[in-house]
Amino acid sequence: METCIDKALVVGGGFSGMAAAIELRKRGIAVDLVEIDPHWRNYGAGISIGGPTLRALRTLGVLERFVAEGHACDGIDIFAPDGRLIAQMPTPRIAGDEVPGSGAIMRPVLARILADATRASGATVRLGCSVASLRQDEAGVDVVFTDGQAGRYDLLVGADGLYSAMRRMLLPDAPAPRYSGQGVWRAVLPRPPQVVRTMLWNGPGLKVGLNPVSQDEMYLFINEHREHSDYVAPETFLARLKALLAPFPDPLLREAGAQLDERSLVVFRPLEGLLVPQPWYRGRAVLIGDTVHATTPHLASGACIGIEDAIVLAESLETARDAGAALAAFQQRRWERCRMVVENSWRLGEIEIRRGDLDEHARIMQASFAALLEPV
Ligand SMILES: Cc1cc2nc3c(=O)[nH]c(=O)nc-3n(C[C@H](O)[C@H](O)[C@H](O)COP(=O)(O)OP(=O)(O)OC[C@H]3O[C@@H](n4cnc5c(N)ncnc54)[C@H](O)[C@@H]3O)c2cc1C
Repeated sequence: METCIDKALVVGGGFSGMAAAIELRKRGIAVDLVEIDPHWRNYGAGISIGGPTLRALRTLGVLERFVAEGHACDGIDIFAPDGRLIAQMPTPRIAGDEVPGSGAIMRPVLARILADATRASGATVRLGCSVASLRQDEAGVDVVFTDGQAGRYDLLVGADGLYSAMRRMLLPDAPAPRYSGQGVWRAVLPRPPQVVRTMLWNGPGLKVGLNPVSQDEMYLFINEHREHSDYVAPETFLARLKALLAPFPDPLLREAGAQLDERSLVVFRPLEGLLVPQPWYRGRAVLIGDTVHATTPHLASGACIGIEDAIVLAESLETARDAGAALAAFQQRRWERCRMVVENSWRLGEIEIRRGDLDEHARIMQASFAALLEPV
């Protein structure tokens, strides 16, 4: 496959960076990927995966492994705190007739699937390494790495996440991440047989969810309104999470609360958002994923839009006459979709915090999911 570049550097081995390496390699581009973590770890509990993410995983060539090692299902059930079913949202099968329209997986499992595909693509992966400095001219980017090595590339793809060093180097005037007023609690629990798809409960100032991540496990998440992003001591996590579940009389959530213990991998994270104004590139360096559009998880689509960035970037390089035209085309195709996800997710969080209009909440969810079903 012909493209307008031969050699690329990907900085950051998260979902977006790995997807970029895989998609660029498919076009015959030589790829070096540098990841700062020497152990290439991925933390956290489960991650919810919608139909558009499944479609993107199919493009990457890892959908079969997702279905085998994660959990795919149809539809989302929404409950009152006492367990009464109040709404059901369909999740159309856009990744193929045989693939359910939604699902979830443990984050480290998805990271391992993508890391295997990255290595199998022929990309060179260097762990414990980052970019110390870079300099661009019209024809390429010269990079000095933190291990003292140097290289010249036709394109640099910055995918080093929310606190990106690449963003600081390339777009020093970009806004900083903003605290949303919510934190999210997550835990992993044995899956009772009745939990077969995503289940959501809207309670007083809290949203609770259960989502199967495999044959035997599910993850629990709770969005909590917390005015300030203050430190929460990890030794208090378990007791706090149990207390948050206590006002929900639904027997399923009672049972989940009773099962929480030291093995439940409880994590807490303040939710932040970021939407960097266009353009997301300078010369021959482009930023993708959370580096430029980190969303709060209300539409469960942050990983989706980061992986889609990688797919669209590779497609743009295939069809454009040169790198500049490719990056302009990439930007044009990505802006509106990513803006929509970040801004609508933020608005959903605001409604949850203010205990606002639940009809508006439902309308935004439906409109956003419908927009995400559109071709990328
Ligand atoms: C609490 C929470 C829940 C979420 N739930 C969902 C969900 O259910 N569904 C969903 O689709 N999305 C969800 N998201 C969003 C999703 O997790 C992110 O959008 C996605 O992981 C972003 O991937 P990324 O590769 O762009 O960035 P990251 O995952 O941040 O990856 C960046 C990588 O770069 C590396 N790195 C950092 N600095 C450097 C450097 N200087 N040099 C080299 N490497 C570096 C890091 O170690 C990391 O491996 C959630 C987010 C949060 C915070």
